[in-house]
Formats: sequence, C-alpha cells, structure tokens
Amino acid sequence: MYVVDVGPQYEGERVRKGDFQVEFGGPEISRKAELVTVKGMDEVEHDRITITGKDIKEMPEGSSSPLFINVSMAGELLERDLEGVLERRIHQYINYVEGIFHMGQRNEIWIRIHKNSFKKGLDSFEHIGRILIDLFTAELPVIEKMSIEFITDLAKVEELAAEAVKVYKSRDEKVKGLREEDVEEFYGCVLCQSFAPTHVCIITAERVSLCGAINWFDGRAAVKVDPEGAQFAIPKGNLIDPEGISYDTVNQVVAERSMGETTRFNLHSALSYPHTSCGCFEAIVFYIPEVDGFGIVNRDFVGATVTGEPFSTLAGMASGGKQNEGYVGIGVQYLLSPKFLISDGGYNRVAWMPSNLKEIAKENIPAEMFDKIATEKDVQNVDELTAFMQNAGRL
Ligand code: SF4
Repeated sequence: MYVVDVGPQYEGERVRKGDFQVEFGGPEISRKAELVTVKGMDEVEHDRITITGKDIKEMPEGSSSPLFINVSMAGELLERDLEGVLERRIHQYINYVEGIFHMGQRNEIWIRIHKNSFKKGLDSFEHIGRILIDLFTAELPVIEKMSIEFITDLAKVEELAAEAVKVYKSRDEKVKGLREEDVEEFYGCVLCQSFAPTHVCIITAERVSLCGAINWFDGRAAVKVDPEGAQFAIPKGNLIDPEGISYDTVNQVVAERSMGETTRFNLHSALSYPHTSCGCFEAIVFYIPEVDGFGIVNRDFVGATVTGEPFSTLAGMASGGKQNEGYVGIGVQYLLSPKFLISDGGYNRVAWMPSNLKEIAKENIPAEMFDKIATEKDVQNVDELTAFMQNAGRL
C-alpha cells in the first residue's frame, strides 16, 4: 500500500511552479543525473533503498536541489546493452506516481513533487524507491534484483554525475560508424505519448532518439527483452525518397502510431516533413528565415538565442507531437551523425549555435564551415547574424 496512488493515469500530469513542495534538477540546478547499471547477481542487494544526503521531508518548501538516482539491476538474462532503455523507464515509472513530474533523462533530469502528494505522506525517497522497484520488477521480469540510491549531497552528486557522463558517452560511441544503409531495421518508440499523444520517435543507425537516451543498439536490445513494450522494430522497407530520406515502412508505422496525425517523416530534415517532437529533446533546430539557415540550441543554454527566444519558448513551438516545419527536436549526438540534416544541407545550412554545442559537433562540421557558424560569442541578434553571414560570404 503506497501513500499516494500509482498508475499510468498520472503520466502527463504537470506540477507547476507554486504547486511543488520540492524540486530536483531542472534548469537552475546543474548537478543532477540518473543512471542504471546492470551488475552481476551477487553484486546487487535486492530491495535495498538508500538515501545519501537530505531526504524530501528535510528540505525547505519550494526548494530546488541536486539529485542523483543510482539504480543497480541484476538478472540472468539482463545485458548491459539494456541500461539506456531501462534508464529511460525511470521517466515513465516516476510519472506513474500521483503528484510527481519527471522530465528529461541522463544528466538533464527535472523532478517536482506536488504539495498535495507531500501532504498525503510522499515525504521520503523511500516511497519513490519502493514504487520504482515494484514497477520495474513487475513489468520486466528479467530484472531479478534491483537496488536504488537517492543522493542529494552536492559533492557526491557532482562526483557521480561526472562518472555518469563517461558512461553515457561510451554508450553513444558504440553506434558510431554504423550506417542506415548497413542495417535491416530501424526502431520506434512511443513512450512519450503520455505527454504528446501523437508523437513517434524513429531511431536509426544515424539518428539517436531526440531524448538522446535511446540509440539503435538500445532499440534493438529493448525489443528483444520486451517485445510488447514502448519500443518496437520497423523493417527498413523501401527508400521512397532518397533526397528526403523517407522510407515507406517508417511512414506506415508513423501513420498508425500517430493515429493518422502524421503520415510521412523525412528522417533528416527540419523543413520538409520533419520528425515530430514530444518535449524531451536535448536540443532544438529552428529555422531563421532572415538568413535562410538554422539555429540550434540545447536545453542548458541560458538566456535568449540569436532570434531573441530562449530555449523554453522554442521548446513550446517545437513540441506537442505535431509536425512543425522549421522546428525539430534532436538528441545532441545527432550533431555527430553523418546524416545530420542532410536533406536540408547539413552544416552548410547552420547559421548559429551555442559555443559549447559547436565544440561537441566540431568533428562533424566541415573544416571550411567551422568559422562560418556564429555563436553567442559572435552575435547577439538576427541583424548581427546577417552581417556575420555576409562577412563569411554565406549571404
Ligand atoms: S523521446 Fe522518443 S525515444 Fe525518448 S523516451 Fe520519448 S518517445 Fe522514446
């Protein structure tokens, strides 16, 4: 018996500013992350829930705190390949809890606990840990043992989050070198339909999910372990438009899973039949008509982009599971894909991006383009961007 209700009916529930008792992570808190690690059977003490640092009830009302959710799992059939997919389920299952809102993934999480649920008794991570262990082991019997640690101590969160980033990176590295042409199937995911009911993610060898948490290998592993789950395989089918990079089978699946809302995806375009976006994207590509080019902004970018809109405003325009021409949500790793917006001109069409993103994308940006893409250090508005592009010989 839990202190609050639990079930899929609470997915999609938001907890607004002013209504939360406490929040963890989010844009104001830089130290935050969640990580699932698959371990050996004798390395996990089943049902163990630990809290390191302050518990929910010890935090002031309305406060924002760092948090690291460290989950260990074991099972005879459990593989490390599944870690990314299992980690994404933390988002799903925490959102099952009445009065808890979870957004994001990896080191971009944001969790709020509603005052009403706190008053009902949801005042300890102990409750959340119990619910998560019950849900994970009930829904995925391959998990035979599971323990969970909630860490709010800043120094510890900082240390663990830095280690987690290395793990995320090594998962991302695996998919490098794999091409869409080399594989026989792609993967889809509809986990976020609770927030964006017509959204479908298509994950290819060269297009990581927009949440950044599920790459092609993760999709393959997820389908193996839970064929009826939110991720599913899509036979590659026929390339019906080599320029738009549109596949007939992908389009059929998108039409079915979006309930007819979207009937075509050009997999690598932000302008023509773009992939839909829920709200979990790590970054947004947005079209800037004045320079006929794209801006790209990531969730961590603070302040206004070159068009004057901050990430949150652009997120409102890009999200909702609708096809929004000129906007597409992406995972940051997609910046390193050989097919990055290839149908729209790739990096030749990128006009502006934050300097930290440009550094991440560096190895994939053609050398002759690198200095011709402006950052927040070069320009502050569209007029300055236009002048920058003219000076660079791009307009
Ligand atoms: S963003 Fe896409 S891949 Fe990630 S959990 Fe949501 S639907 Fe699945």
